[in-house]
Amino acid sequence: MAKTILVLGGGIGGVVCAGELRKKLSKDHKIILVDREQRHVFSPSLLWLMTGLRKSEKISQPLDRLKKKGIEVVRGEIEAIDPKAKSVTVSGKKIKADYLVIALGAVLAPEKIPGLTEAGHTYYSLGGAEGLRDARKNFRSGRMVLLTATPAYKCPAAPYEAAMLLEYDCQKRGIRDDVQIDFYAAEPGPMPVAGAAVTAAVRGLVEERGIGYHPGHMLSAVDPDKRRLTFANGVTADFDFLVYVPPHVAPKVVADAGMLGDAGWVPVDRGTMETKFPGVFAIGDVNGIPLDLGKPLPMAGVFAHGEAEVVVSNIVHAITGKGKTVVFDGHGECFIEAGHGKAGFGRGKFYAEPVPTMKLYKPGRHWHAGKLLFEKDWLRRWF
Ligand SMILES: Cc1cc2nc3c(=O)[nH]c(=O)nc-3n(C[C@H](O)[C@H](O)[C@H](O)COP(=O)(O)OP(=O)(O)OC[C@H]3O[C@@H](n4cnc5c(N)ncnc54)[C@H](O)[C@@H]3O)c2cc1C
Repeated sequence: MAKTILVLGGGIGGVVCAGELRKKLSKDHKIILVDREQRHVFSPSLLWLMTGLRKSEKISQPLDRLKKKGIEVVRGEIEAIDPKAKSVTVSGKKIKADYLVIALGAVLAPEKIPGLTEAGHTYYSLGGAEGLRDARKNFRSGRMVLLTATPAYKCPAAPYEAAMLLEYDCQKRGIRDDVQIDFYAAEPGPMPVAGAAVTAAVRGLVEERGIGYHPGHMLSAVDPDKRRLTFANGVTADFDFLVYVPPHVAPKVVADAGMLGDAGWVPVDRGTMETKFPGVFAIGDVNGIPLDLGKPLPMAGVFAHGEAEVVVSNIVHAITGKGKTVVFDGHGECFIEAGHGKAGFGRGKFYAEPVPTMKLYKPGRHWHAGKLLFEKDWLRRWF
């Protein structure tokens, strides 16, 4: 019997999920993807956009292009999710499905810290990265402060890449000697889930570029007029130019559906991504997967991608009997842009016990070339 699979979200997890389902299921099965946005943005490239190395159109694709693959694309606001009935309301219209895959990501919530939005710039959204790109041109001397407001944010490497790329940008603009750069991190060290060796190596990369690194500083207040930050540990810091990663929360529509666990994200079986509602899966940043070391699996596109592939295999097997059931193994990898046309590369097993194991390769030109190829391949492969 023909089935309908509803994929909520056209970000990394949703696009992979819908694309792979379409390849593996015959056309009598319906794949519907819903997103409020017109375009899919390849977020790793926001780091290049913020320093003027990319244009917005080059790092995004219209979601409507998925229609030519046979995916039904619905543009609208997902206003309600009924996980028991496997139905959703999109811009006032109800859509019912046999399987529901929730890939709605994490929401940036700068408003949780009054003053933050007015005080600085974030490269964590397309508009924010464009604003930072333009505003930095007027900053030629003084103190640039980068911060992560809370320790849980998507892509644990991104703020460290941003620090190194902005430092390199100051060099290229000939203002490095007139700019002091400090990074206040809410987390205890770079990429803490990846282990002590990776943390030390990435910290070393940041510090050897003359960036003052201050871990363990959770942001508690911002005074945009005085350009002053106050941290939960009582420390204050003044800035002339502020670049921030805001707090993240789960989408309201998922919270309203009663799907969040105590940690504020959707609990799932860590192998299959199935929620407590049979036939309803949550992949990517929106889910919360506790690891043995007491911290959650980081939010990252590489996990959203891997989880999507697992969910696809299992849905295809359930519908057609083909293939086999599989489980997610926690594999993750990422490039770490370091400026000067170089990048490092990390690869690890995040479900390893008692702690994840990750190997970090030193920055080199070949890893940077790898990231360039990855960007190109991603936008071509899925659209
Ligand atoms: C600067 C930056 C650099 C990064 N670099 C890397 C990297 O190098 N490697 C890596 O692995 N990860 C990276 N990431 C993280 C990665 O982008 C995310 O982890 C990934 O996008 C998560 O995928 P997702 O499908 O869970 O959610 P998302 O990609 O965020 O997609 C969620 C989608 O849901 C839609 N949506 C949400 N709510 C609604 C609603 N109510 N109605 C309609 N639509 C809705 C949104 O519009 C969005 O399109 C980076 C992130 C940033 C910000």
